[in-house]
Amino acid sequence: MLDLFNLAGRTALVTGANTGLGQGIALALAAAGADVVAAGRSPADDTATQVRALGRRFLDVRADLSSTAPVRDVVAAAVGLNGRLDIVVNNAGIIRRADSLDVDEADWDAVIDTNLKSVFFLSQAAARHMARHGGGKIVNIASLLSFQGGVRVPAYAASKSAIAGITRALANEWAAQGINVNAIAPGYFDTNNTAALRVDPVREPAILARIPAGRWGQPADLAGAAVFLASRASDYVHGVVLPVDGGWLAR
Ligand code: NAP
Repeated sequence: MLDLFNLAGRTALVTGANTGLGQGIALALAAAGADVVAAGRSPADDTATQVRALGRRFLDVRADLSSTAPVRDVVAAAVGLNGRLDIVVNNAGIIRRADSLDVDEADWDAVIDTNLKSVFFLSQAAARHMARHGGGKIVNIASLLSFQGGVRVPAYAASKSAIAGITRALANEWAAQGINVNAIAPGYFDTNNTAALRVDPVREPAILARIPAGRWGQPADLAGAAVFLASRASDYVHGVVLPVDGGWLAR
């Protein structure tokens, strides 16, 4: 039974794997047997050390995903590691906080381009390869703001709601080609993304009080969901947005 979750022989591309949730996901996939390609704007040395310590191959690709310019090269580099690309985790993302009355166009574009446009075109480039090689797994990192409006983050809420939309749209199109497209919606996790919230004396206790599990998430809390959606165990799962949120949405 557990063999369904075994990723030995698979190659996984994870964007933004140098830190935070992307690093946690990369380590989980490696622990399940996958070789890992990290794509991001910062070196992923710490992730490299930990993946190699697990006995897996690791490749670090420099790419600024605020534009779609690097996506084809990223996929080509990932395929280059082992001659195949089985798993893509679209994790890289940014958040910009401002009242909606004050949001400027440059911040809007930066969030949408990084969190949505690059995700679509990286998925497209990967799916062209996967469709020719018997299929694959695409896992998008959504958010609670794929379901809710959030506070002072309108572009982020728009981008993550759209991630839920393209997860379903691409699942519909690519399921027949053996490509599973699904998403994970993390709740409130302890990463750089939430640093401002965690030091806010009003927001931090309010958020914590609303989490049924009684604590913020840690990157390792995504490990099970990530391995499930990257593995054969999810072969008949298409187009879901799976919350991993300590119960936040159930409240
Ligand atoms: P994080 O620590 O800020 O990590 C974000 C990652 O994305 C970093 O690796 C970052 O690289 C990378 N990135 C940002 N802009 C990029 C660009 N232009 N090109 C390439 N890489 C870029 O935050 P995180 O919480 O782990 O976020 C990971 C994902 O989870 C994001 O999509 C985020 O929206 C989502 N998420 C987070 C939470 C949470 O509570 N933390 C909840 C729901 C969803 P640098 O290190 O160079 O900045």
